[in-house]
Amino acid sequence: MCPQADRMWNPMLETLPPERLRKLQVNKFQRIMDWAYRNSKFHRKLYQQAGIAPGDIKTMEDIAKVPKVEKGMMRDIQNKDPYPYGDMLCVPLEQVTEYRQTSGTTGQPVYQPDTWQDWEWWAEAWATILYAQGYRNSDRVFLPFGYNVFVAFWAAHYGAEKLGCEVVPGGVLNTEARLLKMQEVQATAFMATPTYVLNMADTAKKKLNIDPARDLNIQKITCAGEPGASIPATKKRMEDAWGAKVFDHIGATEIGAWSFECLEQPGGLHVNEGLFLIEIEDVQTGEIIDEPDRPGKMVVTAFDRYAQPCIRFDSKDIIQWHDQDCSCGRSFRMIKGGVVGRADDITKVKGVLLAPTAIEEVVRSIPELSDEYEVVVTKKGDVDDISLKVELQLEATNQQGEIKGRLDEQLRLKTNLRYNISFQDYGSLPRYELKAKRFQDLRKNNQ
Ligand SMILES: [Zn+2]
Repeated sequence: MCPQADRMWNPMLETLPPERLRKLQVNKFQRIMDWAYRNSKFHRKLYQQAGIAPGDIKTMEDIAKVPKVEKGMMRDIQNKDPYPYGDMLCVPLEQVTEYRQTSGTTGQPVYQPDTWQDWEWWAEAWATILYAQGYRNSDRVFLPFGYNVFVAFWAAHYGAEKLGCEVVPGGVLNTEARLLKMQEVQATAFMATPTYVLNMADTAKKKLNIDPARDLNIQKITCAGEPGASIPATKKRMEDAWGAKVFDHIGATEIGAWSFECLEQPGGLHVNEGLFLIEIEDVQTGEIIDEPDRPGKMVVTAFDRYAQPCIRFDSKDIIQWHDQDCSCGRSFRMIKGGVVGRADDITKVKGVLLAPTAIEEVVRSIPELSDEYEVVVTKKGDVDDISLKVELQLEATNQQGEIKGRLDEQLRLKTNLRYNISFQDYGSLPRYELKAKRFQDLRKNNQ
């Protein structure tokens, strides 16, 4: 047994030698594909048209031949019976116990039905994450999000309960009331998007005269929903503001909670390879990438989700394998630096490839700027134009000229582009609670 096994939720699975892990993944893939083939008209048709059947799956190479499912296809499916899920549903409607939907940031929302067994699987995936980040039954975990149709931290709530934490739901409260409740119950951990983690710290200081690092008892924070916790400058801002460790996690409504940063924080996130298969596909050639440091599109399979399976889902997230192993003893592979962008967002501006996360890294590394910013790409005639709005911290209002120079230079170094920078009054840019919309490319609308 691995000497660090007491830091793992499922030590046997988390330390399985790679060759046994791959074999397990092929078997589990075959099983969920067979389930979908037998129970969903959509999947059966998809596989029959491609001339591939569950019995053909013997190796990873066979899996790469299985057709992918795109989000757009899921929306079409939902127009069919049974309402509102359509013919991808693999169980009778009577067995569906959970309804959630995607946030719809990239179009019409996708509905996500789950059975009770699926919901337990979500909780198991979250228990793995939280245990790896040091959550134990002595923790009192506060969940400051709107408990509604978006999955957000719903499954994290059940995952934390599963490993014995005391969970305090902070649903229908405003930010100030949430902070006061966290102080009152002496919460030791909470979970939120990076945007909201920063927003809460700012509200605490400015409106309640509370310094979260000094006056609250938060020791760890788990982030999701945005890449911030894997962007070093943003992570540092959060850790400094709260005096707590900040961990990243990536998941999605239609996928599940598939990755986590462990206590060692080696600059990447482990993939939970016991419950998920992550493939990275070259965006141009479609080839499956196994080597590190080569970015591609994530194609993901959840092995144990039955009502509406996720089999080779084309996530459009851009990720890359890490070039090192982790000292925590897990055999689960790692992706480097989280999700580095979306295949839809990584775009060419003035002929230069731009990832919005690079702008965030620069803005957040300048302490005189507030946490908020906004980027808009437009076309003026034939020329692309990028405008960047930022806010100065209240105590830095007389340093605008100097800060603009620094910002200009850093942006040019990190992104090879020039920006129209404008300074807004502190507090005038929108504040977000869930997923922030700080990057807009309006060129597509003009075409
Ligand atoms: Zn690790």
